[in-house]
Amino acid sequence: MSLKVTVLGSGTSHGVPAIGCDCPVCHSTDPHDRRTRPSILIELPDPREAADRGLASSPFANAVRQVLIDTSIDLRAQALANDVRRVDAILFTHTHADHVFGLDDVRRFNQMQRSAIPCFADADSLSNLRRMFSYIFEPPKQLGGGLPQLLLFRLAGAFSLGGVEIVPIPLFHGALPVLGFRLGSFAYLTDCNRIPDESFTLLAGVRTLIIDALRQRPHSTHFSVGEATAAAARIGAERTYFTHICHDLGHAATCASLPAGVELAYDGLVLDVA
Ligand SMILES: [Zn+2]
Ligand SMILES: [Zn+2]
Ligand SMILES: [Zn+2]
Repeated sequence: MSLKVTVLGSGTSHGVPAIGCDCPVCHSTDPHDRRTRPSILIELPDPREAADRGLASSPFANAVRQVLIDTSIDLRAQALANDVRRVDAILFTHTHADHVFGLDDVRRFNQMQRSAIPCFADADSLSNLRRMFSYIFEPPKQLGGGLPQLLLFRLAGAFSLGGVEIVPIPLFHGALPVLGFRLGSFAYLTDCNRIPDESFTLLAGVRTLIIDALRQRPHSTHFSVGEATAAAARIGAERTYFTHICHDLGHAATCASLPAGVELAYDGLVLDVA
């Protein structure tokens, strides 16, 4: 089984450059220092390959190839920059504005695919989505430009999409419980500053990791570079990429300072995960 993971956005909630900032990173000419709000796209293997492994059990088992994690506020720009033409399912980590406010942009995928898109989140995130996007879930009489067509599903443990097992990983983002996701030997852990012991157990054997590392200084809801490096070492990942990066971290200088096997992600980074 192999997955193709595209980092659509690697920046913190403000994005980099930040509005009105004169710091060196916000003025950098290195394209790696331009970071949109956090999201990834995962392309699943051909469903025939998955069917051979006996994993075709979910209602969307054979229809799902492209899975989006979070609908970043920059979703439209990210889809154009990376030529994303399908979104077959959406997983939500949590409902902070930087992770969900691109949800309206999925209308275009509804139009092209002529179908609703299944969305998976925990119970709290689903109720937040219904409240934050009440115009979608309690639609007005006049529809105008149309509404996203979504099917909401509550996550309660591992499930499968496109024949691939997806394991929600409970994490803490300050006091807020959020989810990371594991698919095979790959895990995406954005927006967290604590991994419970039971979740380290769920992460055993992960070889390619994307994990939150906001900046060098500690933060109340995000891992620092040092904390994320220690978490990655405990997980034992062979390749680790930091995400949710703020303007404190210049790409080239920070990458040069990190241990072997650890680097900053960047917008447009593509990982082939065996
Ligand atoms: Zn965030
Ligand atoms: Zn700046
Ligand atoms: Zn957040």
